[in-house]
Amino acid sequence: MAASDLINLSGLMDDAKCFAFVRQHRWPEGVRCPACDSSSVIRDGCDDTQPHRQRYRCKACASRFDDLTGTVLAGHHQPLRVWVLCLYFMGLNLSNRQIALELGLDASDVQIMTEQLRRGLVAKTPAVELTGEVEIDEVYVVAGHKGQPAAVAKRGGSDGGASWQARRAVARWRRTNHRSSA
Ligand SMILES: [Zn+2]
Repeated sequence: MAASDLINLSGLMDDAKCFAFVRQHRWPEGVRCPACDSSSVIRDGCDDTQPHRQRYRCKACASRFDDLTGTVLAGHHQPLRVWVLCLYFMGLNLSNRQIALELGLDASDVQIMTEQLRRGLVAKTPAVELTGEVEIDEVYVVAGHKGQPAAVAKRGGSDGGASWQARRAVARWRRTNHRSSA
C-alpha cells in the first residue's frame, strides 16, 4: 500500500511556508528584480488564486513579478507544495515512478517536473572545486605498446581522446539512467 493511501502529505503542507521557502532560497539577501537586478522593490499585493504568492513591483524599471516569476515553478498548474514535495523526494533518491505514486500524479508528469527541477538546480550550482584526496573512476591505461612510444602517442591523440569521451558519456548515461529508472 502506498503511503498516499494513508496520508495525503501534500494536504498537510503549509502553502505560506512553501512560498517562504522559495523566497528564502531565491533571494537570501532580499527580493531583487528579475529584469534589472535592482533591490529597489516594493510589494504589490498577492496572486488572485494563490494568496501566499507575493507580487512585487520594481521601482527602477517598473516591471512586475512575483515569487515564482522566472523560475521553473512558474506557469504550472501543480500547487507549489507538490513541487516542494517532489524536490524533497528527489533528495531521498526516489525514482520518478515512486514520486508519482506518493503524489498521485502521472509518471510522465513527474518526469517533466524532475527534469525541470534538475535543470533549475543545476543552473544555480557553483562550479565544482576539488580539494583534498580525489578519486577518479573509469581510467583506462594503454598497455601492450612496450618499446613503441610512437604508437602509444598516436593512440593517446585525437583517436584515443574521442573514444575516452565516448566511454565517459556512456558511463554518465548509465549512472543517470539508473537513478531515474524504477
Ligand atoms: Zn527592475
